[in-house]
Amino acid sequence: MNLAAGTLLRVLLIEDNPIHVRLIGELLHGTKSPVFELVTAADLADGMARLREGGIDVVLLDLTLPDSQDLETFTRMRSQAPSVPIVIVTGQDDVKLAAKAVEAGAQDYLVKTQLQRASLTRSLRYAIERTRVRDAEWDSQMFRLAQRQFLKAAQLVGLDDNIRQRLLFPQRTLVVAFPFRRDDYTEVENVFGYRVQHLLTMGPTKGGVRYHQDVSLGEVSALAMWMTWKCALMHLPFGGAKGGVRIDPTGLSRHELQRLTRRYASEIISMIGPDKDIPAPDMGTDEQVMAWIMDTYSQQVGYSVPAVVTGKPVVLGGARGRNEATSRGLVFLIRETAQDMRLKLERSTAVIQGFGNVGSNTARFLDELGVKIIAVSDVSTAIYNPAGLSVPSLLKFVAEHRFLQGFPNGEALSNEQMLELRCDILVPAAMQNQITIENADRIDCKLLAEGANGPTTLEADEVLNQKGIYVLPDILANAGGVTVSYFEWVQDTQNYMWSLEEVNARLQKILVDALHRTRARSERDGIDMRTAALIEGIERVAEAKLARGLFP
Ligand code: NAD
Repeated sequence: MNLAAGTLLRVLLIEDNPIHVRLIGELLHGTKSPVFELVTAADLADGMARLREGGIDVVLLDLTLPDSQDLETFTRMRSQAPSVPIVIVTGQDDVKLAAKAVEAGAQDYLVKTQLQRASLTRSLRYAIERTRVRDAEWDSQMFRLAQRQFLKAAQLVGLDDNIRQRLLFPQRTLVVAFPFRRDDYTEVENVFGYRVQHLLTMGPTKGGVRYHQDVSLGEVSALAMWMTWKCALMHLPFGGAKGGVRIDPTGLSRHELQRLTRRYASEIISMIGPDKDIPAPDMGTDEQVMAWIMDTYSQQVGYSVPAVVTGKPVVLGGARGRNEATSRGLVFLIRETAQDMRLKLERSTAVIQGFGNVGSNTARFLDELGVKIIAVSDVSTAIYNPAGLSVPSLLKFVAEHRFLQGFPNGEALSNEQMLELRCDILVPAAMQNQITIENADRIDCKLLAEGANGPTTLEADEVLNQKGIYVLPDILANAGGVTVSYFEWVQDTQNYMWSLEEVNARLQKILVDALHRTRARSERDGIDMRTAALIEGIERVAEAKLARGLFP
């Protein structure tokens, strides 16, 4: 199931036989994931009029209607709304005709006499998902952002044209389509998975695995490119990679998550390995998912290979402190920057978007430093309390209820409203594309510390700069995760464990050094912190590429 659990999908059924209309209505009634709402029309003219009103996600079309027959019904319908997926419903005698409609661009056909709830709902979901994928695979807003950021920085440093062309796209991509069983053992889901390696020059590649319903090749490629700059900025011996599965993990049981993960791991097994490409957690995945990937890989090769993933449980060779390393690193950088800005943390306020791994741990660490957390959010809601939220109560509530919705000691806001609250420190730690030209002018913080990847668009960056907001850009701000992943990989390859104190001390040193280099470049060249951080990373990569030369 790639669409988010509980999504409402509006189906337009164009069918003149009331018996079939009733049957389809009954089959779609009461489904929960997604929820289908049926709109009906008895002839093509009525159907086209209904489509013009908008809001239709998919059309179920009978080709034989009172005012139109055969393939013409499909062609007319498609010309009306080329981007809306169409599934044909056909009688047993007209299957050949329906197959022709599929050749002409319909997503699927269903035989009326064989209709069942599972096959009908699955066909409709897949039709919608496939259409969305076709539109969005490479053409993702995030990939465009990553490319534009790179081009801006490349132009400023006069990057070699050949290197620029090479780095604009990932070096290797793998797209897999694979099935996994749902818990009732009769249903099989088919999903898309990705593993993208942006740069193989620096050593093995490194990057997280994301489970989210919006994952696409473009999104994963953007994240892989940012990993390249992040690793280079931190002086880690890795190139960037990223992986993902297009699925909403919140709708899966633990067993389903395990089957999905093991199958995904075995599909990408030729790409990964401790000397090749090392996955780690990202949105929607955690240390348990890493443990399953490690186990699947180890079963295949016949011995335990802890170093094939990082961010796994400590008992399997995970680094102490890896789970909260992204947030710990972010808070080291906030503390260092606050000093420069003469911002007294114990008198500061913070707003945090996202209450998963990065968001909740950032709240915890800022709280420990005396920062007043006035608002937090997750996918369900945002909670605001100007007097300050109790972070232990928030953590307890989410541990019990999974989401923040219903948390009693604060006012509920939308995520959009929350981002615009006046505060000293704003931490986006959820999704990309949150601070855009639409809301940048209303962002009211002194320091923007990007826990999330790609939360700010280029246009918004300019507005933030004009407003004098200090930005800790994502490739610097959230690099604590990959840095401790590097420690974990080093420890696993040497079979040697470090103490938490050692991990944190080394983390702080690497991050603060990168912060100082970035700030020095920003001040020296009169450029913003994001561009300075990108240039630090890009120049290191370019130097390595030139040193290696071109094969053959
Ligand atoms: P997570 O899955 O643990 O948590 C994500 C949080 O975001 C959840 O609270 C979820 O409810 C919330 N969320 C999802 N959609 C939302 C929406 N539309 N509006 C508001 N909140 C929403 O993920 P995570 O590991 O904390 O990752 C968060 C961000 O940090 C991502 O951008 C990720 O790429 C980045 N990041 C994570 C790590 C890491 O080590 N986990 C490292 C570097 C960067």
